[in-house]
Amino acid sequence: MTAPVSATEPRSWTGGLVPVLVAVWANIGVLVWLLIRDADEVTYGYWGGPVALAAGAYACFRMVRTPGLPRPVRSFWLRMELAAGSLAVTAVIALARANNNTGMSIWVAVPMLLGVGLLMAAFLGLPGPRRTALCWLRGTLDTVTVAIASALIFWYVVLDLAPAGTSLADKVVAAVVGVGGVLLLVVVGKAAAAPETVVDSGALRVLMTGPITCVAGTILLIAGDDRSRLALSVLALPLTGAAVCIGAHLQRRALIRPSISTFPARSVFTMLPFVAVVATAGLVITVSAQDMSTRQRVVIVGAFLITGCVVARQLLSLRENTIALRGIRRQQDELERLALSDNLTGLPNRTRFLVALGERLDGDLPAAAVLIDVDDFKMINDTIGPAAGDQLLFQVSQRLRDRCTAAEMPARLGGDEFAVLLPDGDPDAAEAAATRLLLALSDPFKVGEQQLLLHASAGIAVADTGEGADEVLRNADIAMYAAKESGKASFVRFEPRMRDDMINHATLAGELRNGIARGELRLLYQPVFDLVTGRLHGCEALVRWQHPIRGFVSPVEFIPVAERSGLIVPLGAWVLREACRQLAEWRTEHGDGAVEAVNVNVAVRQLRSAAFVDEVAAALSETGLTSRNLILEVTESSVVDGWQVQETLQALHDMGVRLALDDFGTGQSSLSLLRAFPVDVLKLDKSFVDGIADGADRGRLAVAAAVAQLAEHLQLKAVAEGIENREQLERLRDMGYRYGQGFFMAKPLPAADCGALMAGDPVRAA
Ligand code: C2E
Ligand code: MG
Ligand code: MG
Repeated sequence: MTAPVSATEPRSWTGGLVPVLVAVWANIGVLVWLLIRDADEVTYGYWGGPVALAAGAYACFRMVRTPGLPRPVRSFWLRMELAAGSLAVTAVIALARANNNTGMSIWVAVPMLLGVGLLMAAFLGLPGPRRTALCWLRGTLDTVTVAIASALIFWYVVLDLAPAGTSLADKVVAAVVGVGGVLLLVVVGKAAAAPETVVDSGALRVLMTGPITCVAGTILLIAGDDRSRLALSVLALPLTGAAVCIGAHLQRRALIRPSISTFPARSVFTMLPFVAVVATAGLVITVSAQDMSTRQRVVIVGAFLITGCVVARQLLSLRENTIALRGIRRQQDELERLALSDNLTGLPNRTRFLVALGERLDGDLPAAAVLIDVDDFKMINDTIGPAAGDQLLFQVSQRLRDRCTAAEMPARLGGDEFAVLLPDGDPDAAEAAATRLLLALSDPFKVGEQQLLLHASAGIAVADTGEGADEVLRNADIAMYAAKESGKASFVRFEPRMRDDMINHATLAGELRNGIARGELRLLYQPVFDLVTGRLHGCEALVRWQHPIRGFVSPVEFIPVAERSGLIVPLGAWVLREACRQLAEWRTEHGDGAVEAVNVNVAVRQLRSAAFVDEVAAALSETGLTSRNLILEVTESSVVDGWQVQETLQALHDMGVRLALDDFGTGQSSLSLLRAFPVDVLKLDKSFVDGIADGADRGRLAVAAAVAQLAEHLQLKAVAEGIENREQLERLRDMGYRYGQGFFMAKPLPAADCGALMAGDPVRAA
């Protein structure tokens, strides 16, 4: 794998072409010289080496100074720079000694060995997979084998082929350089064939030219003073220089266009050096064949064959690795696609959305997120079934996709939650987009034979400076909840105070949890009276929270928090048991004077659990009560929540527990609801009672009268809530309300006071 691209990388990959051109021209110059050379003057031929290697060192120098380069890549090119530098020195010395023609000498060998050592260090220093002791052992054995074999060959070659008069020191040096070259070839080949490398793998393959020419050059140098061989040996260093330049150039290209290099491409550049080396070798053998004995020819051809085999072997494993890598990459791409998109809709998923949003924010680009949640989807899903629900979500995704512009990105975050990433930070534009998106969902959906009308709520968050993707999405989520709370089917733009509200709710939820555990809750009972006889008829249990620091907290404040946090379930369970226990106590104490039933408020969250029915049964049996002694108050909105709630209510009704519709008239009241729902009591909401006496609000008056008539026809008990004065009471009674509760008769009372009423204290309501 190549290094990732960073924003500060070189802008153009053509910028590195100059050294390549210089090096290539140096090689061409040497070749031309070889063809038209003057037999006695060899100095010109040696010019190619210093020029090409200086260009190579310069190319590495520029690469090392590229901003944003990953550390291992930088240190690799730094070592390459030093290696090219020492080889350039080698080339200069070779140039100076050009007319000496003494084959390999210590002056040339020392800087050359240094260069070879640095090259080896560069390749050995590449980070690879963690090596075990066994790997090290295998590597060492390989190296030792190659070293011994090549040392034997070179020793034989040097002893046999070196011109007469070559000193022992020069022979040793030549052999050492040759062995070093072969070892380097193994190391570089292994690195180039590795499936995952930090340095561009194309560059590594090109750099293999270095050791190949090193080996070939050594063979030629020690083969004596034949002019053709000597002249050809002048090509070894220029070729290495060109390889370094091309390698650096490929690395630069990989940084600019990672897609090119993530998968090693078969570029002409990578094959060129091999072709050049093979052609050179062919040339050498043909040219030198004339001056050589058969024995010498066999040795030279053998040496080239060995080198060729090593190269072929490396190329083969490279090919195998490339095929394996291609398979892995394909699987990786598929996994990545699966990991970043939503199975059902094919839209980008939450992870992909956050990545895209994060990229914009990192690049200081404007962004806004619109979070869209289908209203009451759970209920719709319960009603039409999960398969049709999936179809519906798919259609929603298609509509969003169709209505998004090319620059916007729709995504499915999960469930019925969608989001659209907008590319601008203008709040008005974001609101316009939200309107467009919600409008897209307002036409009926056709699922199977059914036509469904959906509503959705949206939250908008415009990214502020310094905000992360998670934060922007969370803000959109907070705004979306605000939209839901403000009556759904609308959008709300995030404001920082919403976050404070959210935090307050979370804090309150935490304190409520402790409050429940510490027993800070208690129940008051508001009496319900018979408006005709004035007698106590029943009572409603109302929970109170006496907070040690906050003081009295109203249920209007903490019940919604409890509902949202799920705390309503344990809280409701406690209320139910406590109310039943209290009624049982009153019944023991006051006998028939006690009310027959206690009213307990139940939240929708409790009704969604099938276990609620058993909970009620247990509370009744533990306190010795029967189902006649309990009335459960539910709101209209909870009744239409879904099939689970319906089933729970039906089971409770079948058990004989009576059900009251609380706050009647404020929700989605409909006659069909009253028919479908096993209701026993209608509790007219206080808002209808409020304006009843002065008759100012004729609409509300009409509703109050209609509810009374409805109750009569359906044989339901009608209870008026929130009666605050005598006039209201009389009007309600005249309308047909038999029962009522309100501050005019009695406020919610502690259990003892309510018990006193049952004991027979004459309370005259009317
Ligand atoms: P709700 O069930 O409709 O209860 C009636 C509310 O109206 C009570 O408020 C009661 O104190 C108040 N009220 C009764 N008569 C009058 C009147 O003449 N004037 C005025 N201004 N108010 C009157 P409270 O106790 O604050 O409870 C508010 C709501 O909190 C309840 O409305 C109910 O929805 C919820 N709640 C209370 N206790 C529980 C509980 O144990 N469980 C659940 N799930 N909800 C509860
Ligand atoms: Mg109530
Ligand atoms: Mg009510």
